[in-house]
Amino acid sequence: MLSLGPVGRSGNTLVAGGISSATNDVENPPELFLHDIMQSGQGVGNSSLARVLAEESFPALQRMEEFGVVFAREGGKLLRRLPPGHSVPRNIPTDWAGVAFAMRGITFVRPLAEHLAVEGVAVHNGFCALRLLCTEGRVTGVLVVERKSGKCFSVRADAVVLATGGYAGLFWRTNNVSDSYGDGVALALGAGCTVRDMEMVQFHPCMMFTPVKLPVLDSLFGAGALLRNSTGEAFMPRYSKTGNMATRDVMARAIFQEVAAGRGVNGGVYVDCGKVPHAALEGQFSLFGQVLAKHGLCLGKDMLVAGPCAHYSLGGVVIDPQGRTTVAGLYAAGEVCGGVHGANRLAGGSLMDACVFGWRAGRAAVEDMAGAATRSDSVFTSFSNCIDATSDALFQVKEWTRQLRTLMWEQVSVVRTGKGLQAALATLHELEGAAKVLWASVAREKFLHKCMVASCVVRSALARQESRGAHYRADFPLLQEEYTGHTRCRFVEGLVSVQFQAEGMGL
Ligand SMILES: Cc1cc2nc3c(=O)[nH]c(=O)nc-3n(C[C@H](O)[C@H](O)[C@H](O)COP(=O)(O)OP(=O)(O)OC[C@H]3O[C@@H](n4cnc5c(N)ncnc54)[C@H](O)[C@@H]3O)c2cc1C
Repeated sequence: MLSLGPVGRSGNTLVAGGISSATNDVENPPELFLHDIMQSGQGVGNSSLARVLAEESFPALQRMEEFGVVFAREGGKLLRRLPPGHSVPRNIPTDWAGVAFAMRGITFVRPLAEHLAVEGVAVHNGFCALRLLCTEGRVTGVLVVERKSGKCFSVRADAVVLATGGYAGLFWRTNNVSDSYGDGVALALGAGCTVRDMEMVQFHPCMMFTPVKLPVLDSLFGAGALLRNSTGEAFMPRYSKTGNMATRDVMARAIFQEVAAGRGVNGGVYVDCGKVPHAALEGQFSLFGQVLAKHGLCLGKDMLVAGPCAHYSLGGVVIDPQGRTTVAGLYAAGEVCGGVHGANRLAGGSLMDACVFGWRAGRAAVEDMAGAATRSDSVFTSFSNCIDATSDALFQVKEWTRQLRTLMWEQVSVVRTGKGLQAALATLHELEGAAKVLWASVAREKFLHKCMVASCVVRSALARQESRGAHYRADFPLLQEEYTGHTRCRFVEGLVSVQFQAEGMGL
């Protein structure tokens, strides 16, 4: 296992808190979970993937417990919360008592990392995958650079499973950890894979940036929290029949529009938790309240100020239900993939997605390898030359990255227009052109990856001339039936090409 950040202490999993699962009882069966996933996906997601997610959620949860993850319980029963978009309470937090809120996902990843040691998996931290190696249309390994030494290695493998996370970090306002620039999507595109739904980026509606960077818990709205604009109006009923229980896309847009209309508060709106019952504030939200208290805020009394930011990438590598991509020898799981959640993701669905499809992709890779005619032991081959950038080039790439992320936020975020997207494409083209003439280096390659992924997002957003789920076009504000289906991107002869495909037409 090769990872850029340390396994068990990196990635967005580190900051996640709750997992959604069917529990196989009468109120919360897999069928209802499937219904909710498909409903929030609004005709974009792949129903076979969603079915696998719903049906295998509870066995995956039990497997996580076997691996040592401890879920919160109340009276011996799994604690279940009701975030917006779910019909019944099924969001189960890990028991993160004693752990910092911003690191609560460590209760999830640490036991899994420890389990790797039990299984004898060799873990190499600090290695960044730069390119997939291919022979005759099949992935045969990966080119990596070691962060510490700057040295490049080729690593041969009969199968490669990508689990590199998403691309929400491409946006200037994001709550993602670093390393979320969509490297895996770029690697897959470079190997000839198809990616899908790249325009679908979920914006967390309620991220606090001051006095502390903290997402407002979705479950607070289930417990009675209300959004208010600067005039004090609880405005959500104007945007959605479900009011403050609206799905994340609806809520993000509503806040964005309130801010644009001059009714915002420091780029966001107020979150009023005054109606959240005292018992809940003292119970399930007590740890959240303690974090706020450290920063001088009293949950339930003080208004919080929060606004949208890029949170989750719904698009990514096309997979089948076994985690196989469109290229032989390459598998993918987790946020690097597209198609599981469609145009919107329910809270807690992503951790479950990574558990269910991570298991499946790993199993398929092993099974497929067993039948392969040739087997190779994974071997590191060091290159004699390490490709390091000069400090001038590094400075330049840093500046371009800042420009790219600002561009993505300003023109390609919560509310998009054809004009803004075209302008973004032109600037991306300029940035890419400038980077291409720079001396080859790891920094340049990584920047070109960002340009490639950003270009897929912009081109797919241009292709979808409607508004649906997380994708909102102010120039096409309504959902159009003819766009039921998904966008697909490929990288052909140095260019990103986009196609539209109705669902159910093969991988
Ligand atoms: C603030 C926040 C809160 C969230 N809360 C929840 C929640 O409560 N419930 C939920 O279900 N989801 C939640 N999510 C979403 C969820 O955390 C992620 O979608 C999920 O953790 C992704 O898991 P992953 O394994 O696919 O990727 P990650 O956990 O992001 O891991 C990716 C790994 O790949 C490595 N990597 C990246 N690029 C390279 C490369 N080129 N070479 C080698 N290694 C590389 C990284 O270092 C990292 O270790 C939250 C997200 C955020 C940002």
